[in-house]
This record gives sequence, C-alpha cells and structure tokens, in this order.
Amino acid sequence: MNKTIAVVGAGISGLLLARDLQARGADVVVLEKSRGVGGRLATKRVGPAVFDQGAQFFTVRDERFRTVVNEWRGAGIATTWPGRETERVIGVAGMTALPKALAASLSLQREHRVTRAMRHASGCWELEIENHGMLRAERLVLTAPVPQSLALLEPGLLAPAVHEALSLLTYHPCLALLLALDGPSAVPPEGFAPSAGAIRWVADNSLKGVSPGPAGALTLHTTPAFAAQHYGESVEEVAARLRSEIEPWLGGSGIVSTTLHRWKFSEPKAAHPEPFVWLPDLALGFCGDSFGGPRVEGAAVSGLALAARIATTLARVPAE
Ligand SMILES: Cc1cc2nc3c(=O)[nH]c(=O)nc-3n(C[C@H](O)[C@H](O)[C@H](O)COP(=O)(O)OP(=O)(O)OC[C@H]3O[C@@H](n4cnc5c(N)ncnc54)[C@H](O)[C@@H]3O)c2cc1C
Repeated sequence: MNKTIAVVGAGISGLLLARDLQARGADVVVLEKSRGVGGRLATKRVGPAVFDQGAQFFTVRDERFRTVVNEWRGAGIATTWPGRETERVIGVAGMTALPKALAASLSLQREHRVTRAMRHASGCWELEIENHGMLRAERLVLTAPVPQSLALLEPGLLAPAVHEALSLLTYHPCLALLLALDGPSAVPPEGFAPSAGAIRWVADNSLKGVSPGPAGALTLHTTPAFAAQHYGESVEEVAARLRSEIEPWLGGSGIVSTTLHRWKFSEPKAAHPEPFVWLPDLALGFCGDSFGGPRVEGAAVSGLALAARIATTLARVPAE
C-alpha cells in the first residue's frame, strides 16, 4: 500500500493534522500502537465507574482550535466544566469521546506500532510495523513524545543541530490513581489542585458528569517528583504511600477498587521554540505538545500548524 502521508500517533495533534490534510485532498493514514485513540486524552472504565485518567480539561484560546471545539460542542460531545474563571472544556462522556469523533472519518490503523522509520534511496519513507509488515509513504509525521519519535529514526539521519534541539525535549512522568468509591466523595465539584504534598490534582469524575454517580470516581495525579521516585511500584504500594493524603477526599466512603496508570511521558519539561518541525529535504515532520505548548491546546495547535505547512507541499510545486 502506498500512502502520501503517514502519521505516527493518534493523539490530538496527529488526529487534527490528519483530518486537516485529508480535507485538503491528501491521502493520509494514521498508525496508532494502542487499541484506543487519543493518547493522553484517555478515559478508562473500571466496573460501572468512568475515569479521565490523562488530561482533565483543556483551554481554548487559539481561534483555529476554537473552530474544532465548537464542532464538538455542536455535536454535544464537549461542554464547559464550570467552577473556574478560565474556560475549561471537557468531553461530556469523558475525554476519549473527542479523539474518537476525529478518528471516525480517517484512515486509521489501531494496534499498529511503528518500530522503525527508514528513508529509502528512492526518497520515500518505509515504515516497519510490528506484526503488520511495511508501509511506504511519501511524507512522514511523528507525533509521539519526542524521545519515542527519535528512537524510530536511523542514527545520523537528522542534521546534528536538529537532532540536538529535539533531544532536549524530555518529559516528566505522572502516576494516576483511580479510586472507585461506594458513596459520595468530599472532592470539590470543580476539582482541586493541592499546593503541597505528593498529589497535585484530584477530581471526582461523578461530579464532573463523566461517571454515573452518586458514588465517587476519583482521579488523583501525583507530582512529577513522586512519580519519578515511585514509578515502578505496585498499585498497593503507591496507594499505601498516598493514604494519608487520599483520606480527606473520601468523605467517609469506602474504596471499591484502586487502579494505577503510569504515564511515562506526561508533560514536556521544555518546549521547542517552534510550533512544529518540518524538514523539507527529508519530508519529515514533528508535532505535539513539545512544540505547541505542554497541554491539549498546544498539541492541537501544533498539529494544525504543521498540517498547514505540509499542505504547501501537496501541490508538488518545485519550490518546496
Ligand atoms: C496525567 C496527565 C494529565 C494531564 N492534564 C492535562 C490537563 O488537565 N489539561 C491539558 O490541557 N493537558 C493535560 N495533559 C497534557 C495533554 O494530555 C497532552 O499535552 C496532549 O494530550 C498531548 O497530545 P499529543 O498529540 O502531543 O501526544 P499524545 O497524546 O501522547 O499522542 C501520541 C500518540 O502516539 C502514539 N504512539 C507512540 N509511539 C508510537 C509508535 N511507535 N507507533 C504508533 N503509535 C505510537 C501513542 O500511543 C499516542 O496515542 C495531561 C497529560 C497527562 C499525562
């Protein structure tokens, strides 16, 4: 199968980029290693409880992103999470509903992990996909966290200065603890960001409207320092370490289940100075939250901006 543009990763940046380029008439395929789409926009069901385990909400300041969010609002899948002065948008049924809606109209291969990206002598890209053979594409966009993207490329392919700038883009880890309760919690409806301790964020997905209430469904995110120190520990060990910090949020209810999700690449430590990287000589692009800004909106805007840049190459004008 020959494809004009291959996009590695079905997070918000990859999906918006792919949709934009497809709308401009390009032949695009998205390759995603996971069964689900959305990357760090992730919703998990544990029994009857539903948890947003990655991004909790997002801002909308950029007009390009606002157009997308208005589409979601019009379709009834995004809404405002009240309680703060800043506009905070969430997925009505959880964050995953938003990337799922974007994916619906795309050529997307789930459970397709790209293990190597090779620049062929003919000038096209050859992608090695775990258990699925090879795929050729004329252009390649890498949207995974940058260390994962760089690992796909042959050493020496990128110019040293480009490689050095990309190598600086590392990420903090985060541990997400998901607690299903047998009764209501004591978490404020708008969520809470403690200023001290190992927990940096707590929200009750029932009060947020994502999980069926009244029983609480808590998402707790740890600080990067705690996550780095206890990353490999079991769910029981992590829960035991956080017990005294968790207790006040339970409102006297009991814990029915405890689930741990480890985010190795949670948020970028540093940002690239440009909103994306496009290397015309290699027909290779990088986008995502390390470029546009370390949040959902930044990732979205990065994907849209790179799509607009690649669109200028689609007419095959010799000036590329
Ligand atoms: C715990 C946590 C809390 C957060 N809270 C917020 C918040 O409240 N507000 C906010 O705005 N942002 C928040 N963020 C950040 C936000 O989620 C990200 O900035 C944004 O979702 C990143 O999107 P992306 O497209 O750049 O990358 P990703 O979402 O990481 O997408 C990359 C995709 O590439 C796929 N992939 C990787 N390698 C391969 C491969 N080899 N082959 C195929 N596919 C591959 C991955 O599976 C993934 O789907 C949070 C993130 C985390 C983890």
